[in-house]
Amino acid sequence: MVKKVLKFGGTSVGTIERIQHVANIIKKEHSEKNKVIAVVSAMSGKTNELLKLSNEIAEDFNKRELDVLLSSGEQVTCALLSGALTRLNIKSKSFMNWQIPILTEGDHSNARIINIHVEKINDYLNNNGVAIVPGFQGISKNGDITTIGRGGSDATAVAIAKIFNAECCEIYTDVDGVFSTDPNKIPVAKKIDKISYDEMLELSSLGAKVMQSSAVQTAMMYDIPLEVKSTFTERKGTKIFSQENIDYTKSVTGVAYSKDDAKITVKEVEDKPGVAANMFEPLSKAQVNVDMVIQNISSDQKTTDITFTVKRDDISKTKQILKESTSINYKEIISNEKVAKVSIVGAGMVSTPGVTYKMFRGLSDENINILAISTSEIKLSVIIDEENTLKAVKKLHTIFDLD
Ligand code: ASP
Ligand code: MG
Repeated sequence: MVKKVLKFGGTSVGTIERIQHVANIIKKEHSEKNKVIAVVSAMSGKTNELLKLSNEIAEDFNKRELDVLLSSGEQVTCALLSGALTRLNIKSKSFMNWQIPILTEGDHSNARIINIHVEKINDYLNNNGVAIVPGFQGISKNGDITTIGRGGSDATAVAIAKIFNAECCEIYTDVDGVFSTDPNKIPVAKKIDKISYDEMLELSSLGAKVMQSSAVQTAMMYDIPLEVKSTFTERKGTKIFSQENIDYTKSVTGVAYSKDDAKITVKEVEDKPGVAANMFEPLSKAQVNVDMVIQNISSDQKTTDITFTVKRDDISKTKQILKESTSINYKEIISNEKVAKVSIVGAGMVSTPGVTYKMFRGLSDENINILAISTSEIKLSVIIDEENTLKAVKKLHTIFDLD
């Protein structure tokens, strides 16, 4: 008998038929004598629909009431799922955020779970019941309903797994697991059987949107094994756990890409100490996150060109700040938003020499120009022209034996 947290995302509970199907998955787990806590999302599209309603009243709809409104989507799923289980003769009950309670701190719409009371649910599990819990929400110390950020049901599931000391946390979704690259765009993409938290974090922050990255981070911190799997097939999913449990035969585990970056070049800045600091200080004060930085010596040796990348959403803000800055002199600012970041991720990279060279050679064979580079122990990212994205991803997927 093991205690399990099963989390079902919005598409998994998107219709009544699907909720009934989920009830059958839980019934099977229950018949194998597992203690099940199911964490559920709102039915797909529901949270957006509620958000839209609030916008029709006011764009700056009252924050407290917005959380009351948005949290209701999960409440609906809880009741329907529990009802479906009861109909299958499984003892089941929904526990609302304030009934448990799930305690949070922080602002409305952006709160964090800090504690969850376990007694009621543990009693219920010990009496052979299945507990259904709403994801994405809690209450503040004043007793107000809070939500914990979009996609937050993953974080709820991981927090429940930790606080209830569950054996594992299974994330049921509409794909078979985590893939070596985007399977919608690159059909030869393969499902990854096992991946480390670190790699998963890199992949999810680089654009593979299977799981919320802050939830993966929490799982890593407390060493909670995760499994991402499909609600709709019986296939094995992807297991996510710590690196020691993985035998690396490949240097690269996955290829990710994103199109949220933009590149800025500041031409002919004076080449003397403090210039880069003067340039980036006002950006950091304005919360602009600078990712990659490259500095070239220009031909006259007195000035230099500095190129860096920021999030696309920050581009006009960045240019404005640089223009207003009195502490740097330069000739002009050029920006390019039509760029993509393509990254290879793999814990096996650490012990394989020549990965960098192989990536650069592969891109050059495809005539793709590299505009900027950044590396970490288990990741290598390049900025390239956006139009070359798929060509680059395909090539890297092939040369690193992922097809
Ligand atoms: N229903 C919430 C959202 O759409 C939370 C979740 O599904 O994880 O963001
Ligand atoms: Mg989600």
